[in-house]
Amino acid sequence: MLTIRSLDVIYGRSISALEGVDLEARSGRVTAILGTNGAGKSTLMRAVTGVLGASGGSVTSGSIVFEGQDITSAPPGAIAAAGISLSPEGRRVFAGLTVEENLRVGGRLVDRKRRVENYERVVDLFPVLEERRRQPAVLLSGGEQQMLAIGRALMSSPQLLLLDEPSLGLAPVVVQRIANLIVEINRQGTAVLLVEQNSRMALAVSDDAVVLETGKVQMSGSAADLASDPAIQSLYLGDA
Ligand code: ATP
Repeated sequence: MLTIRSLDVIYGRSISALEGVDLEARSGRVTAILGTNGAGKSTLMRAVTGVLGASGGSVTSGSIVFEGQDITSAPPGAIAAAGISLSPEGRRVFAGLTVEENLRVGGRLVDRKRRVENYERVVDLFPVLEERRRQPAVLLSGGEQQMLAIGRALMSSPQLLLLDEPSLGLAPVVVQRIANLIVEINRQGTAVLLVEQNSRMALAVSDDAVVLETGKVQMSGSAADLASDPAIQSLYLGDA
């Protein structure tokens, strides 16, 4: 579904952020991108969503193809229209807008009938958003804001949902709820590309995974194989 081949990205004239990155996100599956600070995870998300330029980055070689369409240098709107939707890092919701208004913004590209169906899907997944629909997003808890950010991304009926660090700053019990919801969203037919520093959670919910280190893919394979790899266990899962 999404195929990234030999992708090189630089910031400014020469700061290399990604080097020869290969990645495949398959339909019907959850694919995790793991890596520590500075590994290049956000850069990869920016490249896929077409917003590298805003942070001074550019693709210098390689390709990003989604459902047969080359989106390597496509603008963000065209990438969204092709079926890729991002729930950004830091659960960036529109704080002053109500929950319902946030969701409506997410659904602005689809027709009214689809918007109503997607709204039903989102409040079915996250009933708390229906309970709070008239409240400004700023009044939601961190976990609820994360649900709103994911819900907003789902409002455009994406084929591929990108989740950037959905567990960041959340209590373990809330992380577990988000993890269950990722599995449910995928079970309903949406492919997911999940960027996480919480490797344990990411490997638990993914089918496939890629480990990025200083801009290069260090390892890739099935999530189960990576979870049982001794190097991954000691470096990413905190096991002895
Ligand atoms: P984190 O988990 O901390 O967000 P990350 O894995 O997302 O890290 P990136 O933010 O993609 O990593 O950074 C990859 C490399 O690119 C780092 O060396 C970083 O310093 C550099 N970098 C990121 N953004 C910029 C920018 N706007 N200008 C210059 N260099 C940048």
